[in-house]
Amino acid sequence: MRCAIVHYHELALKGRNRPFFEGKLVRHIRTALKGLGIARVEPLQGRIRVVLKDEARWEPVKERLTRVFGIANFSLNHAVPLDLNKPNLEFLKSAAGEVIRDIPFSTFRVSTRRADKRFPLTSMDVDRAIGAHIVALTGKKVDLSHPDLTIHIEMMARQSYVAAGKEQGPGGMPTGVSGKVACLLSGGIDSPVASYRMLKRGCKATFVHFHGRPFVTRASEEKVREIAELLTRYQLYSRLYLVPFGEIQRQIVLGAPAPFRVVLYRRMMVRIAEELARRDKCWALVTGDSLGQVASQTPENLGVVEDAAHLPLLRPLIGMDKLEITEQAQQIGTFETSIEPDQDCCKLFVPAHPSTRTSLDYIRKVERGLDIDTLVKQGLDKTELAEFTYP
Ligand code: ATP
Ligand code: MG
Repeated sequence: MRCAIVHYHELALKGRNRPFFEGKLVRHIRTALKGLGIARVEPLQGRIRVVLKDEARWEPVKERLTRVFGIANFSLNHAVPLDLNKPNLEFLKSAAGEVIRDIPFSTFRVSTRRADKRFPLTSMDVDRAIGAHIVALTGKKVDLSHPDLTIHIEMMARQSYVAAGKEQGPGGMPTGVSGKVACLLSGGIDSPVASYRMLKRGCKATFVHFHGRPFVTRASEEKVREIAELLTRYQLYSRLYLVPFGEIQRQIVLGAPAPFRVVLYRRMMVRIAEELARRDKCWALVTGDSLGQVASQTPENLGVVEDAAHLPLLRPLIGMDKLEITEQAQQIGTFETSIEPDQDCCKLFVPAHPSTRTSLDYIRKVERGLDIDTLVKQGLDKTELAEFTYP
């Protein structure tokens, strides 16, 4: 029988929360592997076992598991029966010979763990016996410190598992264990990375995008739809709210001095996003701000923008360099879409010299001249919803 054995980070999942975390992870894996010929996904003594049907291919299963948060590592295994009274190493030997068949290597080691200590042989005994068998079979050398390949053997109550190599999972916490957050997605490089980092910590994300229609074409919106779709590969279902912002910006332009527009736009975005966040029961707002990157991200302006929020305003990238953010965008697959040229609402009515040190008192005074509630309502009324599912 072939199966994937999935290990999660024991530290993150320890304690009273464990059944809750494990349940979320099992259900997420089930959905993520839909259509790939999976017989069962089940918790099994601190691990999760994914049983493959005969027709299942390993490559696509592997590809999807690398995006399931909460997985520390996983491997393809051959399971063999284990009779405690009659320890039969022959089964283990043939399974070991089987798993290494298509794998190129010149040095190897065997690493055995006994989950069931009733088995009379120690892990070292098993390491030696299987190691000797592989040497006899292939003529390859044992290297205990830097092997090309490690053959992992796990001995459980009724079965043993033999695996060649180990795949890294993405780590993090299972999707959904940390509640829901509303991520402001701009179509730039940073906000998809900020969203990813919250997804990785176990949050589900609702996305909110402000577009410049009718003053710009649909370009930024199309990009954001694509990015939402890419991020959906990690959480399997996403909602994206598309808020028309061009008219609101025009009103701000009419009622406020040019240098303060950018901060006023951001405060309006925060207010509207917060209403949508409450609709979806989100506990926080998330932006891709990084300290000092642009005028709206100076120490003074970050505070002035945050003042408009009542929910926590999270900025997971605040201490990261552009270079670090860019690397992560490449890793998670959103970079190429983010750098496509677009017409973003942020490029509409942008002042030549935005204020970098806005005072909160002053901004509040300017806002008294605007009908904030009506502007928020106007944005919400025309908001559209797009939904995405994966696979
Ligand atoms: P990004 O690369 O994410 O666009 P940025 O470095 O260009 O970020 P800003 O344009 O100042 O910085 O935006 C800061 C954050 O504000 C963004 O990361 C995003 O979370 C939010 N934001 C900006 N514009 C929009 C928008 N049109 N729709 C939704 N959120 C936005
Ligand atoms: Mg931007």
